Amino acid sequence: MPTKKPNAERVWKQFEDLLVPRLRLSTTDRVVYSHLLRHSRLEGELRLQFSILWLARGTGLCHNAVRWAVRRLVVHGVLRLVERSKAGHLVEVRLPSEVRAARPRHIGRRPLSRTRAFDFDDLDWLKHPALRRAIHARERGRCFYCLSRLTISIRCLDHVVPRAEFGDNSCRNLVSCCQKCNVQKRDLPAADFLRWIHRQRRLTAPELTARLRALDALAAGKLRPRLPPHWLRRRTRTGSI
Ligand SMILES: [Zn+2]
Repeated sequence: MPTKKPNAERVWKQFEDLLVPRLRLSTTDRVVYSHLLRHSRLEGELRLQFSILWLARGTGLCHNAVRWAVRRLVVHGVLRLVERSKAGHLVEVRLPSEVRAARPRHIGRRPLSRTRAFDFDDLDWLKHPALRRAIHARERGRCFYCLSRLTISIRCLDHVVPRAEFGDNSCRNLVSCCQKCNVQKRDLPAADFLRWIHRQRRLTAPELTARLRALDALAAGKLRPRLPPHWLRRRTRTGSI
């Protein structure tokens, strides 16, 4: 998918001046993004297919470090995951100016209309009980990882990319899960944890495939929780989003 080559000088200034500070990108994230940007948009290509091995070699980093960085960049909306298969990752690489969370904030927010779309990516989904309940409701009473039935007493919210790895509280990074999975996952990458659950025979092979797809859909922002109508009305009146 050829696209117009961007002005590299402008891109790099926006990268350093906007993207890095606003998203608090780590050194690893910066290196990985630079490498992907170099081989996609600066070549006039919107999409790039790559393997973790190729990325690790190109950046001089270990496999796990680049895998985590790719996940974080997807969660931040810097990369859009189109597909993940045996051939590797297929992503759309966004320019710094195309990353929603890195755009300059407008001074003086416009009052919200009912029809205006909420910026889901800007919401802190841990902050309000109604938002936390919306994440639980999205999983429909099942653990996101092992699919076991959840009750209010055993359910909790888990950061797919841990806070220690700069994971945020967006709905792309929070899932409803059972306490057992929450404790066992610790800082494991979610995909590795799902494979471990499968080896423990708590997920069948088709369930594992479906869970890995769900993980990709979550990171790509395709699994959106439904905001409670009363919460929407309240926020709309106060204009506090
Ligand atoms: Zn579970």
